[in-house]
Amino acid sequence: MRRAISLFFALLLLLSLAACGSAPAPAADAPSQTEEPPAEVPEAPPEPEPEPEPYTILDPTVQPEGGVRDGVTYVAYDGVVEHLFFHPVVAYPELAFDGDYKSDGIDDWMVTAGEYLKILQSVYDKGYVLVDIADCWSEQTGEDGQTRMVKNTLYLPEGKKPLILSYDDVNYYEYMLENGFTYKLIIGEDGKLWSWGLDPQGNEVVSRDLDAVTILDKFVEEHPDFSPFGAKGCLSLTGYEGILGYRTQTDRENWTTEREANRQKEIEAVKPIVAELKRTGWTFGSHTWGHISLNTRTVDVVTADMQKWFDEVGSLVGETPVLFYPFGGRLDGDDVQQSGPAFRWMQQHGFRIFCSVGIDSWSKCKSDISAVICDRLHPDGTTLRSAKARERYMKFYDAKDIIDLSVRPQREVGWQ
Ligand SMILES: [Zn+2]
Repeated sequence: MRRAISLFFALLLLLSLAACGSAPAPAADAPSQTEEPPAEVPEAPPEPEPEPEPYTILDPTVQPEGGVRDGVTYVAYDGVVEHLFFHPVVAYPELAFDGDYKSDGIDDWMVTAGEYLKILQSVYDKGYVLVDIADCWSEQTGEDGQTRMVKNTLYLPEGKKPLILSYDDVNYYEYMLENGFTYKLIIGEDGKLWSWGLDPQGNEVVSRDLDAVTILDKFVEEHPDFSPFGAKGCLSLTGYEGILGYRTQTDRENWTTEREANRQKEIEAVKPIVAELKRTGWTFGSHTWGHISLNTRTVDVVTADMQKWFDEVGSLVGETPVLFYPFGGRLDGDDVQQSGPAFRWMQQHGFRIFCSVGIDSWSKCKSDISAVICDRLHPDGTTLRSAKARERYMKFYDAKDIIDLSVRPQREVGWQ
């Protein structure tokens, strides 16, 4: 951590020197920058914002001219598009797995930052490349005049396999803050996304190694061929505690002008984060406003909740065709055999890709309505510990090589 911070300050120093046009100082001088300047030194003028590094996003459904781009041959792919989803990753296992009532839940549904990085390395080594979920299907009008979703042919670097990543609950909920997760995404002086948070001793930590978003950003910087089209992942957001660590939500009780003023401040603060995420290949999906079970709630409850999502989240992240079911609960209790009233309402309000959770990356384009329903696999404690799941996930990684039993609670592991 300390190294991450000092690297950060060293980087800051280099950047500020570059901005002033001075020659870079030797690295050994870097630590002095963190000391308090003498009082008589006049304040430096504000530095210009760094130019963001250019970032290219390409369409995987378009074959490159002559089938070759940058010396890489692209070939048509019509097979299964694998889909893995994560929750926020554990930055500090000693806080997450401290034996309190949240420990087992975090053990079940999350991976640590270290495990996550090992998973990325493994899927990269096995030849997966990232694609954006919205590029995998498109809407077409049939001969009967009906629009339906169809699976796209993807043009991938020869020998590669497509992989969608999605991330649920990227909201930085209050309970997570004291349980070993990062607090929010911020934009660093270098113009890149960093996480901000507190370590177990209460020290402020700005890092790119502790958060699922920044870890993937960094991984793609180091392995650009992991993302030939610039895609990263789809961030699935609720709204009841704001988004991305910013408290942009309303509260039904005790709303005051002071609270509203603070909310407006948070809204302004999150806008550049959303813009930078979008610019660098991240997309957004809805996870409902209140993380409600879509399989059990009435249409009235569902539509009221979603209206709030459009008002408070959609207004900040823009339109999205992707809905991620909270708890994996399928709309109207069943979206495979039927398209019920809540499903139809969602479809009328722009959703086309409906994601649940399952044992493989199953998907089905519905015939009665323009929509695709799909399942995602879930790398987490439950699947890392299970012998059956270990076999199923072997195409991505061997759970034995990933799970960090030295930091997780002493619970059963199904494989030997
Ligand atoms: Zn969720």
